[in-house]
Amino acid sequence: MDYRENAEELAFRTRVREWLLVNAPTNWREEAKTEEQMGALHRRWQRTLYEGGFVGLSWPVEYGGHGLTATYEAILNDELGRADTPRISFHNYLGRAIFTYGSEEQKQRFLPPMLRGDIQWCQGFSEPGAGSDLANLRTSAELKGDRYVVNGQKLWTSGAQHADWCVLLVRTDKDAAKHRGITCLLTSAKAPGITIRPIKISDGAPETCEMFFDDVEVPIDQQIGETGAGWRIAMTVLAFERGPGDIGMIATFQTALRRLEGIAAERGLLQDPETRKAIARVYVIGEALRLNVVEQLSQRNAGKPPGPEGSVARLLLTKAEQAMRTLELELSGAAAFTEPGDTSFASYLRSRTISIFGGTSQIQKNILANQVLGMPR
Ligand SMILES: Cc1cc2nc3c(=O)[nH]c(=O)nc-3n(C[C@H](O)[C@H](O)[C@H](O)COP(=O)(O)OP(=O)(O)OC[C@H]3O[C@@H](n4cnc5c(N)ncnc54)[C@H](O)[C@@H]3O)c2cc1C
Repeated sequence: MDYRENAEELAFRTRVREWLLVNAPTNWREEAKTEEQMGALHRRWQRTLYEGGFVGLSWPVEYGGHGLTATYEAILNDELGRADTPRISFHNYLGRAIFTYGSEEQKQRFLPPMLRGDIQWCQGFSEPGAGSDLANLRTSAELKGDRYVVNGQKLWTSGAQHADWCVLLVRTDKDAAKHRGITCLLTSAKAPGITIRPIKISDGAPETCEMFFDDVEVPIDQQIGETGAGWRIAMTVLAFERGPGDIGMIATFQTALRRLEGIAAERGLLQDPETRKAIARVYVIGEALRLNVVEQLSQRNAGKPPGPEGSVARLLLTKAEQAMRTLELELSGAAAFTEPGDTSFASYLRSRTISIFGGTSQIQKNILANQVLGMPR
């Protein structure tokens, strides 16, 4: 990144870089091969970062954060990307639901352990028949005394098999308009009555899950926001999920592109016009993404919360990642299918999921058309 940093921010960058030289895990891709190992690695890494004083930089001090500006998060993420470390838990954006709509007691209860990495989260929004049309969700919650009784099914709940808690959207009023009858609950992912079945995605990893709810009891003090206000909470969470919350993806992306240029050079392909064109294309999309992310960072620093314009970054990220993984696969050639250690085909398949989760590319375009450009529905 090349926006200007003041003296304190530069000193922070130096401190992070020096700390990473000592603490960043090395060889983690070789050591963490399975989903389980990757989950354990993420927990350990989040804990190490927390102990180093680098988690929740822009979160308020009273909830375990450091009360700094979004620039500090960006510097940290940039350095993590350059050092090619594992990612910090990508589910922390779920904390925004609690942070924005939770009671003081809920914030104190859930946010500090979330930042410490003591509790892992999953996002129980999508259902069969309620993906793009999320407001169609049917998992029901009936209030009985001081607890809800939840019945239904969630689908594509990533990381549910390793999660401790779930941010869950449920229907509490079947007669209200479909966006109005939804409520947001926090449930233990291990509560009696929950059955979790992992689903293997295209590259064979059991990354996401089905979750079944049979008379699952959720105490009413685990409701976030008002009854029937779940849609607004869902939109806040999705704006953070879709926006470029993690600017480190730019540095990660640039590191990966440099690695591919190295592979092209090794294979004598750097002078090949088609390879050059493909590298240039990936570079240009990445650069457009970087500029968009920097623009959004300044908006964040000016106090503007993420909104529908985050879909631009999401579409650029999708294009950039898919173009890069296509290039990687082409550079591998036949080795992608014959060499057991070659991961380019798995990465290519995985890159196809980016245009689906968090809202498909078509839905991102609809959001931009309707909510940013003001075009008719
Ligand atoms: C790897 C992975 C991880 C995921 N993780 C999670 C998670 O942790 N939690 C969670 O809640 N969900 C998760 N999801 C679910 C994801 O959000 C949904 O898959 C996504 O919103 C699409 O919904 P759907 O699968 O029901 O497809 P559908 O909504 O049925 O869409 C099918 C096709 O129709 C198109 N389409 C639908 N409506 C429109 C429209 N109005 N205009 C134009 N085109 C349209 C879509 O773009 C798509 O191409 C995950 C999905 C994947 C693949």
